[in-house]
Amino acid sequence: MSEDIVDKVRAAGVVGAGGAGFPTHIKLQFEVERVLGNGASCEPLLMSDPYLVEHQTDLILDGLSTVMDCTNAGIGTICIKSKHHRAIETLKSKITGNGYASDIDIFELEDYYPAGDEFILVNEVLGKIVPEGDIPLSVRAVVSNVETLLNISRAMAGHPVTDRYLTVCGEVHNPIICKVPIGTPSDVVIQLAGSPSLSEYTLVMGGPMMGKVLSSGAEPVIKTTSGIIVLPPYHNVIRDKQKELERMRFIAKAACTQCSRCTDLCPRNLIGHSLEPHKIMRHLAYTPGMTGEVLEDALICSECGVCEKFACPMMLSPREINSVLKQKLLKEGIKREPKRETYNVSPFFDTRKVPIKRLMERLEVTKYDVHPEFYSGEFQVKEVKILLKQHLGEPAEPMVRVGDHVKKGDAIGEIPKGALGARIHASIDGTVKSVDENQIVIVSE
Ligand code: SF4
Ligand code: SF4
Repeated sequence: MSEDIVDKVRAAGVVGAGGAGFPTHIKLQFEVERVLGNGASCEPLLMSDPYLVEHQTDLILDGLSTVMDCTNAGIGTICIKSKHHRAIETLKSKITGNGYASDIDIFELEDYYPAGDEFILVNEVLGKIVPEGDIPLSVRAVVSNVETLLNISRAMAGHPVTDRYLTVCGEVHNPIICKVPIGTPSDVVIQLAGSPSLSEYTLVMGGPMMGKVLSSGAEPVIKTTSGIIVLPPYHNVIRDKQKELERMRFIAKAACTQCSRCTDLCPRNLIGHSLEPHKIMRHLAYTPGMTGEVLEDALICSECGVCEKFACPMMLSPREINSVLKQKLLKEGIKREPKRETYNVSPFFDTRKVPIKRLMERLEVTKYDVHPEFYSGEFQVKEVKILLKQHLGEPAEPMVRVGDHVKKGDAIGEIPKGALGARIHASIDGTVKSVDENQIVIVSE
């Protein structure tokens, strides 16, 4: 039974929809006690997860129940912020009405950031700490985003992952939640939201805290795209992203007061991990070169951005520095062993949570918080660019050639033998226009 589920999920190319795209079939091969359905939607402005909990409730509950069967978990919990009243009411009635009441429950979260970080979620719901550098399986839990659960349910019926739900907001005429084929160019998606309201703008893929600034509107939607935000090019959210390490180092030396506020508010530090971003800043500012044990702590940073966007009074970028360090260390194959055997949650954990309202004010995005409707209009995309790497692990290997005709749902990229990865599928009917080591382009017929 569980092998059948794992095979179907692998064949459908399901990956973690809410994070870095960890291939889901790997997680399902372990026995756990509890499965958490993550509907926290903790990034400001992004609304597709609570939308799905309210409107695709049956599929989400079915997906959760499937994961519980596969992992032998005794209990499943949908985690959602208590402010989403309608979604919670629907969920309650479906849990009872569909006969899940004995093993599925709801955990209501406060409205803070980063409530959806799986380490923070596991602490909130289970009162357990995932060790540094580890994953929730180590405390016998699986965390799956609610869109992942929906995709698992569809996978069991033989449907691969071909579409993505996302929020389109910011400087657009009609902010929306929509469902688009994977590979749709970002600038096509924003047209669905009534086009940008500015002549010059910058696109952020993902949320304002952890999203990435796009170099062009041609960049396509992938399996982990939770939103596209249109912002003025000079906006506060854009400013801190993409700085060079040497420049950040110079600024840290000139401006970091070592107040340690970045460490005091760091969510990973608050759950007892040994990450102290102010020490990384100090080391980098005053020690020549790029070595030192403390720099390896960047490997346990979640890149949530609380230090940078909320904590630092000098507007410095510990998160950005950690991100650059992390890439460098991973490239060099450096691993960081956990420094602690036991973890003690800070007595300030509750009082230092970052309220979403205050975070939005600090980010200057409050005016974009408009709770958009679902876009139900006609939409056909002429060309999709399907990336071969939309997940953690190795890129998929192309299974098609230029000129091949494909149908929506056909497998077009396979997991390399013996590697961690995920299959990819055609998201529209069409003809393969090009294939290279990065992407497969399909044009509609
Ligand atoms: S909060 Fe800013 S100024 Fe204070 S220690 Fe951290 S980086 Fe330095
Ligand atoms: S980004 Fe900053 S606040 Fe978030 S985990 Fe990393 S160091 Fe801590």
